[in-house]
Order: sequence, then C-alpha cells, then structure tokens
Amino acid sequence: MDIRVAKTAGFCFGVARAIDSAYKCAEDKNRHYCTLGPIIHNAHVVSDLQNRGIAVVESLQELTPGVTVIIRTHGVPPSVYHELEAKNISYLDLTCPFVKKIHTIVKEHHESGHRIIIIGDKTHPEVIGINGWCDDSALIIESLEQVETQDLPQDNVCIVAQTTFNKNIYKKIIFFLKKTCQSSTIFDTICNATDERQAEAQTLAGQVDAMLVLGGQNSSNTQKLYQICKSICPEVYCAESIHALGDLSPFQNKRVGITAGASTPAVIIKEAINKMENQEKDFATLLEESLKPIFTGDTVTGTVIEVGPTEVIVDLGVKQDGIIPASEISDDPALTPEDIVKVGDEIQCFVVRVNDVEGKITLSKKKLDSYKTWEAIIKAQENGDILEGKVDSVVNGGVIVTYKSYRVFVPASLANDRFLTDLNELVGNVVPFKIIDINERRRRIVGNIKTVLMAQKQELEKAFWETAEVGKKYTGIVKSLKNFGAFVDIGGVDGLVHISELSWSRIKHPSEVVNVGDAIEVYIKDIADDTKRISLGYKNPLENPWEIAKAKLNVDDVVKAKIVRMLPFGAFAEIMPSIDGLIHISQIAAKRIEKPQDELSIGQEVDVKIVDIDWENKKIALSIRALLPEAEAPAVEEAPAAEEAPVVEEAPATEEVAAE
Ligand code: SF4
Repeated sequence: MDIRVAKTAGFCFGVARAIDSAYKCAEDKNRHYCTLGPIIHNAHVVSDLQNRGIAVVESLQELTPGVTVIIRTHGVPPSVYHELEAKNISYLDLTCPFVKKIHTIVKEHHESGHRIIIIGDKTHPEVIGINGWCDDSALIIESLEQVETQDLPQDNVCIVAQTTFNKNIYKKIIFFLKKTCQSSTIFDTICNATDERQAEAQTLAGQVDAMLVLGGQNSSNTQKLYQICKSICPEVYCAESIHALGDLSPFQNKRVGITAGASTPAVIIKEAINKMENQEKDFATLLEESLKPIFTGDTVTGTVIEVGPTEVIVDLGVKQDGIIPASEISDDPALTPEDIVKVGDEIQCFVVRVNDVEGKITLSKKKLDSYKTWEAIIKAQENGDILEGKVDSVVNGGVIVTYKSYRVFVPASLANDRFLTDLNELVGNVVPFKIIDINERRRRIVGNIKTVLMAQKQELEKAFWETAEVGKKYTGIVKSLKNFGAFVDIGGVDGLVHISELSWSRIKHPSEVVNVGDAIEVYIKDIADDTKRISLGYKNPLENPWEIAKAKLNVDDVVKAKIVRMLPFGAFAEIMPSIDGLIHISQIAAKRIEKPQDELSIGQEVDVKIVDIDWENKKIALSIRALLPEAEAPAVEEAPAAEEAPVVEEAPATEEVAAE
C-alpha cells in the first residue's frame, strides 16, 4: 500500500486556536466552562473535552449559573452577545478571525443599505451567525440552480461566502450572479485554508487509486472534500476515523490518498496511517509503541524525518511525531531549519507540550541546547575550563562575549593581555575565556579573557625557548611597525626584522614591504645572550641581487644604466635591479665639468662601461668617458678607486634598537 497524506489535512488555524484555548480552559480549576454547540464537528474531541469538564449546551437557556460560555469558531449572531451581556454571563469568544471579518462586512454593508447575499449552507451555524449581523435579512444561495430560479436583487448588493464553501461551485454562482446583480460588491470570503485543502485534495485524488477522507459526517468542509475527491477518484471513502471505516481490504495494494476536514485531529490521521502501515506488525510491537508515554518536560531522542521552512518533524518511536517549530530550533534567527538539521539526523529535544487530541508533541531543540549550555557553563566555572566565544559588542565597562545562546560580560581590565585604548578592536574576534562569576538567579555570567591569554603566552614562550636556535625558520605574524623595522610574533615571542633585513633594495619604511597582520616567513639571525632579544632575517638569500649580478657582470662590460642619484663627486646609476654603480665626475664626460648635473639628469638612460668591481664591498665603478672616442678625451684628473666612493648609508644596528 502506497499511502500519500495531504499536507493540509487536519486542523486549520481557526480550529487549532480554538481547541488550544478550550484545553487551556479545561485546566482552569477556578471556573466552569461550556461550549455553545459542539466546539468542532468531531465527536472524539467533544467527548474528550466533556471528560475534562467542558460541557456542551445547545442554547443559552441550558446555562447553569456561574458558567463561562465558549463561543466556537463558527461565530454567533449579535443577539447571542446581547443576551449574554444582558444576563451578565461571561464568555470566551473563539470565533475564527476570518469569520469575524465577514460579520463586520455584513454589518457595515447592511447598515449602509446594501442587500446581503450569503453563498453557503443556510443550516450551517456559521451562515446562521453571519445572517444575524444583517438582522436575518440575507438572501442565502446554496446552489447554482437557485441562482436560476430565485428572484435576485439587481442593485446595491453585497455578496459574501461561507468560509468552507466549495470554491468551484462558488465561482460558477458568482459568474451567474454578476449577470443579474450588476451593481454588486463581492467579497471572496472563502478561507484560504479551505481553498488550499480543497485544491490539494483535488490534486491528490487525481494521483491515487483510492481516497480516504477523514472527518465528521456533519462537518461541512469534510463533506465538500468528499464531493471534490468523488468527482475525480473512482474509489472514495469518508469516515470519522479508521475504526469507523472498519474493513481496510479495499485499500490493499493500492495507492491511497488521505485528506481530512478542518476539525479532524491529527491523532485521527496518524492512527489511520499507522493502521494502514502497520498491518504486518505484530500486536506486541504496536502495543509497546502506543504505550510508551511522553510527558511535557521530558528530554527525548528521535530521528528527523522531514525538514521544512517552518518546522521539523521528528520520529520519536511512538504513534505521534514530534514537531519542532522553526523558532524552537536555534537562537540564531539567521539560520533556517535546513541549515541546522537534515533528514536522518538523530536529535535530542525538550518536550514543550503533549497534546494527545491533536496527536502533537511540540518539541524544542533550542531550549534543550540552552539548558545544556547553562550546565556546561556552571561546570566550566567549577573546573576552571577555558571556553571560546565571540566578542559581540562593547558595553559600559567592558565587552560582551557570546557563548552559544548566552552573553558573558568581561570587564575592560580583563578583556585583553595588553592595554587597549579602544575595546572595539576586539569586536568580532573569537576569544578564549574563563568563567569567574555566575549569578544563577539573574543568569548573569562574568568572564576573564586576560588570564587565559597570559597563561597561553607563557606556555608558548616556554615551548619556544626550548627549541629556539639561530637559523630556525618560523611563520610569524607582523605585530607592529616602527621606522627601524617590524616586530614579528613567532609563537609567543616577538622578534625584530630590521629595516635593512626587509628588502634587498633601499626602502624608507617597513610598510613598503609588510603590513601589521601579515603572515611572513622569517628565521632567527641572532639571539642576544643577555637580553634574549631576537633579531630576525626576512630576505631570501637566493634573491640577493649581488649574487645574481656576480653571474652576469664583468669588468669591461658595456651596459645600459639609469641615473638614480647625483652627488658632488659623481652620479649613481642603476645597472640591474637593486645594483647601483658610481660614475665618478671625471668619468662622466670627455671634458672637465663642474658637477654631474652639467651632463646628466635623474632618470636619464646612458651606456656605461664597467671599469672596476669590488664584490666584497659591493662597489662597482662605471665610466661614460671610456666609451667616448680617444681624440675627444681631454686630459683629466685620475678617477679615485671605486672602493673610495660611498655607496649606501648604514642602517642602525639591530641591537641599538630597543625592542617593544
Ligand atoms: S476554515 Fe478558515 S475560517 Fe474556518 S475556522 Fe478554519 S481558519 Fe477559520
């Protein structure tokens, strides 16, 4: 048997709301309640409520003194309210808001002189109630035939419909009414829940071999579902419950669709499914499943069987499924049920409410998680455990760290292991902390980040010094930049990369090479024995431009050069990236000149001859003059040796720089 259940089967919004309220009334030991007419068309629910003390009266004359009257979803005419108020009888009005809206429409249009037409069943309590709001003057149309035979008003007509009326028939009636009632105001008051239920029943009936419609024989919307299904599906059965139906053999080996009226409790639907599905199960299994009790406040474990945008259905191994409303899954409103659970997951939840009549067990994952987290927080304080949370915001005197669903206050003095001028620096960071105080009554938690960070730092420092040695490589994080270099955290200890160690070329500031927060590869160049200050190297020796130049440059080579600096004694020219040579003033031209600027300018490209290379001291002497024709060369003073010319200014030694 292939069973397909309509998603819209069972209690609608209005009925669920009324039943919920009625059961709450049943728990009120200080008052007596009775319903005016059966609260819904379902004998099971009505008798269950009677057993809990909520009687049914058919008229106000049957009321006993002191009783509170429950007005059901169908609503009542205004005369009922007047009588109750006149007799000083209290009442709880559970008229469905959608029905109330029809009362208002009818009342207002009646008072403004409209003739009211109600499309519906004139014996139905809802229609009787609506008619009362126009002093019982409405013309009630129940069928298409009636439209053809009835004398219809032509002008100033207001048309409404019973909320559970058949939508297809309604459309046809309206089509013909419009022809006669030319000046009419039409309100389509058929309830969406009814509309959707009927549309789904129609679709389902077209997909299966047999349909089962569950609902009371006197339930108008159940009977309409039956008619809709009957017009499509060859085999349709209608019964108040699976027990009332009795023989299930007509469904054997068939595709069976199940739908149910708005007053059919979920437990009746579940029972029908169970009975159809479990025919092969032995009696003992069924008995055991049905007897397993679940109470409000229990913690239960189940398997997720359906995940939707508004709820998650959990199989708890009993006859009712558990439902977790989306709002009870997580504290994070940004997450949807699909983000948190998937079909097949085993899940633990807290039982919020058990409603045997509706066959519903309402669960909360959020509450159980919150409870477990609170216990973990208390334990963490007892054990001194380190927790991890995210800094959410800065508040007066400190920061708030969120740990799962809880907010932990951390005073400013304990928010970091170093002084911070602006605590906003921490917002968004994931931080470790310890719990130092809990006020259980006020659910107030105080944490300490500082001691955890300091302890972690000490641990790291200890581990670092056990293995630190010159030449060892590290991946460090740039902590701060100074004019003379960059301080880098290499695992609990900071070392300095001197500015001269940051680049093979001349730079003015470390920020030309690195930024705070960068992860960089460094190695220990030196450890000062006395101060334990660490000098770090950063430049890659393989990229040393002087080593590269060695393989490419020779004395007497003629190369292209770019003038980069000029001093009174000559001009420096770049002949390779990061390699500058000196053209002494005597080697700039074939004549005597006063200053390099007389012949050269910054950025100018010239051909030069390499006249001397001192690899050890990184000095290269260049000459333009050597490339000029001999005849033009006037007698000039000898050029000084290359090594006499200064090349770069020395950067301050690492040890002269005070570490932070
Ligand atoms: S069917 Fe619609 S109008 Fe009627 S009680 Fe349910 S929700 Fe209200």
